[in-house]
Parts: sequence; structure tokens; C-alpha cells
Amino acid sequence: MLKINQLLLKATALLIILLCASEAYSQLTIIQRPLPEKCSRPREKEQPVTHLMIHFCSICTQQPENPYDLNGICQVFEKYGVSAHYLIGRDGTVYQLVDESRIAYHAGKGKLPFPPYLENSFNRCSIGIELMGIGTQEEMAHFMSAADYQRIAPSDIGFTEAQYVSLQQLIADICKRHPQVKQNRQHIVGHHEYAPDRKVDPGSLFNWKKIGL
Ligand SMILES: [Zn+2]
Repeated sequence: MLKINQLLLKATALLIILLCASEAYSQLTIIQRPLPEKCSRPREKEQPVTHLMIHFCSICTQQPENPYDLNGICQVFEKYGVSAHYLIGRDGTVYQLVDESRIAYHAGKGKLPFPPYLENSFNRCSIGIELMGIGTQEEMAHFMSAADYQRIAPSDIGFTEAQYVSLQQLIADICKRHPQVKQNRQHIVGHHEYAPDRKVDPGSLFNWKKIGL
């Protein structure tokens, strides 16, 4: 009897270790890098989070050869008083810039091409995710000359595999906390879909299939 109990104890201990290991493996590490409060405001309590928006950002117009300097990117957010909740680096590192309990200023004016449209009110009910990334030359032509675009390293254009992996984990994580966000293209949209006349991100190089959408 004692032996059976000991065996059961050992089996339980092993199971706990395995569960902890699998949890650690799937757990997303998020680095806090808060932006000043002026870049966001408290969320209205009665308004749940229902949508996610994917963006790209860089400082390629200032530094084509070094477009992904974290502090440089955050300085741009601060300068213009804008923000997103998360920023995913080229190596897949996830930075949290704004707490989910606050409204980040990431969508601006626009309208979804399908109901509930959320005309000029997307920020109130959403979480914004920026990926460090750069679009095609055509997409970036709004912001920079062809000569400057040529100075960007080809490996800095588009998105990395590590970013897709982190993004998919982050989305799953957010959907657990905000069950009204469904993992489909009606609830998870690109900035260019909301504001096609102003925005090109995340653009044609972003592969939605890689995040299962
Ligand atoms: Zn954007």
C-alpha cells in the first residue's frame, strides 16, 4: 500500500513538473516599456475590447540603415502623443507600451469596410499591436524617396518569422482576457483596412496566414 502511495506521489510530482514545463514553454515574455500617460487615456468601463489592429512602424524615414531602434521609435510615439499597446521587435520580443486598461491612440480616423464600422471610434474598443516592419517601396513612397528606400537592408523589409510566432501567441493571450475578440478577420484587422486613404500598414508584405487568419 505504501509503495502504491509513493508511486502515486512520484507520478503526481512528475505530472506537475511536466505541466510547469509546458506552461513555461508556451508562456509569452512581455517587457514593460511604458509610454508617458499623455499618449493614452483610461478605458471607459462599459466599453469592452472587441477588436485588434495590426500595424507596422520603424524610423526608416530618419535612419534607413538603422530603422528599428527601440528608443527612437518610442520617441516618435511620444513626440506625436500616439501609441499602441504592444510593439513586437524583429527578434520577436514583445514590449508593452500601454496597459490594456487604457485606450491607446493608434487607429485615428477611419471606418471598417464592414459592420460595426466603428467610424472614428476604433481606439475605444480595441488593442493596437505594432510590429517593427517596413512595407514595399510603393507603400513607403508616401513617406520617403526611392533613393532613401534603397538604403534599407533587404532583411529589414517585411516581417520576421519570430515576429509571427510572438504575434500569434500574443493574440491568443489577448483573446483569453477579452473573449469578445474573436480570432477572425472581422475582429482582427490591419490599419490600412480601416484607413485606406491614409495608411499602408501592415501592408501587402504581412502574411495573415502565418497567424492563422
Ligand atoms: Zn498603423
